[in-house]
Amino acid sequence: GLADRLQSTMQKIRGKGKVSEADVKEMMREVRLALLEADVNFKVVKEFVKKVSERAVGQEVLKSLTPGQQVIKVVKEELTNLMGGEESKIAVSNRPPTVIMMVGLQGAGKTTTTGKLANLLRKKYNRTPLLVAADIYRPAAIKQLETLGKQLDMPVFSLGDQVSPVEIAKQAIAKAKEDHHDYVLIDTAGRLHVDEALMGELKEIKELANPNEIFLVVDAMTGQDAVNVAASFNEQLGLTGVVLTKLDGDTRGGAALSIRSVTNTPIKFIGLGEKLDALESFHPERMASRILGMGDVLTLIEKAQENVDEEKAREMEKKMRTASFTLDDFLEQLGQVRNMGPLDELLKMMPGANKIKGLNNMQIDEKQITHVEAIIQSMTKEEKIHPEIITAGRRKRIAKGSGTSVPEVNRLLKQFEDMKKMMKQMTGMQQKGKKKGKKK
Ligand code: GDP
Ligand code: MG
Repeated sequence: GLADRLQSTMQKIRGKGKVSEADVKEMMREVRLALLEADVNFKVVKEFVKKVSERAVGQEVLKSLTPGQQVIKVVKEELTNLMGGEESKIAVSNRPPTVIMMVGLQGAGKTTTTGKLANLLRKKYNRTPLLVAADIYRPAAIKQLETLGKQLDMPVFSLGDQVSPVEIAKQAIAKAKEDHHDYVLIDTAGRLHVDEALMGELKEIKELANPNEIFLVVDAMTGQDAVNVAASFNEQLGLTGVVLTKLDGDTRGGAALSIRSVTNTPIKFIGLGEKLDALESFHPERMASRILGMGDVLTLIEKAQENVDEEKAREMEKKMRTASFTLDDFLEQLGQVRNMGPLDELLKMMPGANKIKGLNNMQIDEKQITHVEAIIQSMTKEEKIHPEIITAGRRKRIAKGSGTSVPEVNRLLKQFEDMKKMMKQMTGMQQKGKKKGKKK
């Protein structure tokens, strides 16, 4: 898929200290194929690749310390542009109520999203939406919306399943005016496939309700199909926005790219779970990160580049490679990391960190770092270079000198030992990789 393809390409280029035009070309070929595979219009692809290529062989990349990462940054920025650049807002009618029609195939998440959207409108914008049950076909669809209404403690308008959806919409809007609701959210019926009967009914509701927004709710997991569905709904109804649901699943959101470029309709919200608070505004930049599989790692890189002395970074890298990394180096690194800002903030930006339970509530203890610093500073020069000479007696002395405890000293030495082991393994792997590459 799109994400996998882009990601393996990114992996290849990420660590590069130098990027040649040939590298960029190869990468662009991958990007092109990946986008075409995802059914993105070939003109859009062409334009995209052209823009990225121009920037990737330009000064901003070549002059950079980490050109590989710089290329990724360019790709990310252009991906962001492709998805509309800025976050787009929800409509507000100057003659309330603002009417929003939710449309889409069965099972896409319309009813759930109607509830979530009502919740968001109240929470974030202080609005008082009226929910409207206009799906009279799916068994228990009305009940489902009513249950959501109860959970939210919000009114749901319904006339049962014997009155036509058009009539329901009409009466609901009148009722909303009467009761001073500022938003009307109409949950409509879906079918398993786009068909004429479905479109005919939706067009009728549109005609009558004159909605400010028509949101297509699509299941992001359906990938390619989602794009086709979006295209036909847009053609028939004229969409004003798309809600991409089930992004909490395995999908990385490649659909977001193609939907935006095929329909030229902004994605306004994304669904991230079954719960009523699992709806977020769509941020093109974050989605671009997600497609590239790197969390907010770019922000992290930017921060690092601002704060880490380039010369020192190079030196450190060399030391890591040769595994001649001492506790003094470790201390220096700690200092650099500290300059980047509060540790818990940095951790949150790491890819995958959002999946670690409890991280959001976790406070990294800055005191611990201070202790580590004190411990290392209490060592002799020789001890820092050859920690294996640090006997029990020396540990006691160091703990005393640093105002810490022996267990703390032990823990640090163990951590350092593990880190060195890991570095050795990593450099070992890299060298193996190189040999493999040279063979053949
Ligand atoms: P509708 O037929 O379009 O009205 O779809 P529903 O609202 O009934 O949703 C179908 C199923 O998808 C339900 O089980 C929902 O809980 C689930 N669902 C909707 N949105 C999301 C989402 O963002 N994430 C996940 N994981 N499930 C969702
Ligand atoms: Mg429904």
